[in-house]
This record gives sequence, C-alpha cells and structure tokens, in this order.
Amino acid sequence: MSEAPILRVQGLIKHFPIYKGFFRRQVGSVKAVDGLSFDLGRGETVAMVGESGCGKTTAGRAILRLVEPDGGHVWFRGRDLPTVGEAELRGLRRHMQIIFQDPFSSLNPRHTIAQIVGRPMLLHGLASDAADAEQKVKELMVKVGLQPAYSSRYPHEFSGGQRQRIGIARAVALQPDFMVCDEAVSALDVSVQAQVINLLSDLQQEMGLSYLFITHDLSVVRHLADQVVVLYLGQLCERASRSALFSAPRHPYTQALLSAVPHPEPGRKRKRVILQGDVPSPIAPPPGCRFHTRCPLAHGRCRVEEPAEHSVAPGHVVRCHLYEGRSEPVDIAGPLPAGVQP
Ligand code: SF4
Repeated sequence: MSEAPILRVQGLIKHFPIYKGFFRRQVGSVKAVDGLSFDLGRGETVAMVGESGCGKTTAGRAILRLVEPDGGHVWFRGRDLPTVGEAELRGLRRHMQIIFQDPFSSLNPRHTIAQIVGRPMLLHGLASDAADAEQKVKELMVKVGLQPAYSSRYPHEFSGGQRQRIGIARAVALQPDFMVCDEAVSALDVSVQAQVINLLSDLQQEMGLSYLFITHDLSVVRHLADQVVVLYLGQLCERASRSALFSAPRHPYTQALLSAVPHPEPGRKRKRVILQGDVPSPIAPPPGCRFHTRCPLAHGRCRVEEPAEHSVAPGHVVRCHLYEGRSEPVDIAGPLPAGVQP
C-alpha cells in the first residue's frame, strides 16, 4: 500500500453485555470483537473471513458505528469515528455505505426504486431536484445492469440478484469512498454471485471504491480480495495479502479453512483438515489461545497464555505462539516443530 490507508482500524472492541434477573444485573458479556486491527488501502478490498459467529458482521457494523464500539480507533477521512459527534457522523455516513446479505429486508417495500435510490441523493444534495434525481437514478440503473424503465417498480417485483443490484445502486448513489459488503453475495445462486462480484469489481475500478468484504466463503475471497483478515472468536488469527494467504497460510485455523478449497497452483492438492468440536461460546472464550480447544497443534503454553500477533513477512501477521521467532509455515497435519514443549 503506497499511500495512506483510507480506513485504519486499531484495537477495535465490541462486547455486548448480558443482563439477568429482576434488577437487570450484568452477569457477563459476549466478546464479539476483541482488539481487531487492520488497514484498508484506497481502491483495495479487504476480505474478512471466519465461521458464523466469529464477529465479522459485528466488526463491520462497529466500524461504521451502526453499533457503538467499546474501544479502539477507526480512522476514516482523518477522523476517529468512535469519537465524532452525531452531526459530524451524519455527514461522514455518505462516504461509507453498506450492502446487506438480504437486500429485500433493507428496501422499503412501499417505495419504488426511484424513491429508494433517489431520496438519499436529494437529502445529501447530490441531486438538485426531483427531475434531476430521477435522471440520475436511471443512469445508476444502467450502471448496475438494470433497465432504467424499472425505476417505477417496487422491490417485490425483482429477483434476488436484481434486488442486490438495487442495493448496490442505492449505496453508490451517494458516491462513497468505502463500502462494507456484508455477505453480499452469500444468498445468491452461484451464477448470479459471479455477476454481482463482477459488478462490484467494475464499480471499484470506475469509482476507486474500497471494500470491506465480509464473507464465510473463501472461493469468493479468492476472486476479489487484495488483503485477507481471518477471524476466530472475535480475534484476528491471520492477516496477509491474498496470494500469501492462499499459497502459504500460517495459522492452523487458516490452514484448516483453506484445506477445503483447491490450491492456487495447478496440480497441487491440499490435505483436507476437519476441525474437531464446535466453536466455543464468545461469552466465555477459552483461556490462552482461543483456538486451543480445536487446534491439532495446541501445546502446553497455548492453554494458559494468549498469543501475541507475530509478523512473519511484510504485511503478514499471525496470532499464534508457533510463530514467535519463526516465519516458515508449520503444517497443521504435521508434528510440532523441534523445541516446542508439548
Ligand atoms: Fe494452535 Fe497454540 Fe497456535 Fe493457538 S497458539 S493456534 S492453540 S498452536
């Protein structure tokens, strides 16, 4: 990344309190996001991956302040978002948009597409009057691959893929710099997925957009990510460029996730690794390394000491004890490296 990142997330924390009893006493908290840090470059895509419940959706919402973070910094357009007041945040919101997995639930069923896409433009002064907004909606419809004449229709008259295109039109109508795509293609058929991914890539090229792409699907990540952030139980496991992550994953959890997708080099195969057990509850994450209850390479230290983030190459960070002073990948299906106490 040559220039300053458009978004810098540092130590982001979001815990949801759990209350119980008549006096609504706090008895614990769900540690949804615990100290997440990464940078997003201008015109780049960072994919955030992990199993369901790992905190990726909460992280996306906390970054946009759709939920209030409990700690950390989110630097965007020179401002630390968790500290800005409501009025300033409203102004900044135009520059950061979100696309949801289910566009239907986020499109007002009583409004036409012209209203859904056009009104925000009028509100933010990006269209001078109703006629101007209508014209711009039609141009946007063409841009996202829909017939301009459909602008007078209602959301229920469209297919899932078309509704996602409408969601994208609404988001780009405000000329944002940065968009969170939260499982934006997960609910679509594979062929429609490819079309929507291509549309997002074209818009990125054309408008210089930066994406935070939240997904559980590594084959999608492979097509569009520049950087990948792997989360487990609210914490970062590994952060690397797409090519580094797919060709030489370090963290045992990343290796297990990637064992299910084909190797990028033709002819090379990965050994399938099935993780045992379920993801522990984020209310009481395991002590030490959060992944130790399922990690085939867990050893004594992992059960008591939380691992730090270790840099194994420029821009490649791993949270695992095995990479303290080591940068070569340790195979999840192999023995512990020499010198590591079991
Ligand atoms: Fe596995 Fe230990 Fe590394 Fe955690 S710190 S991923 S338990 S080897």
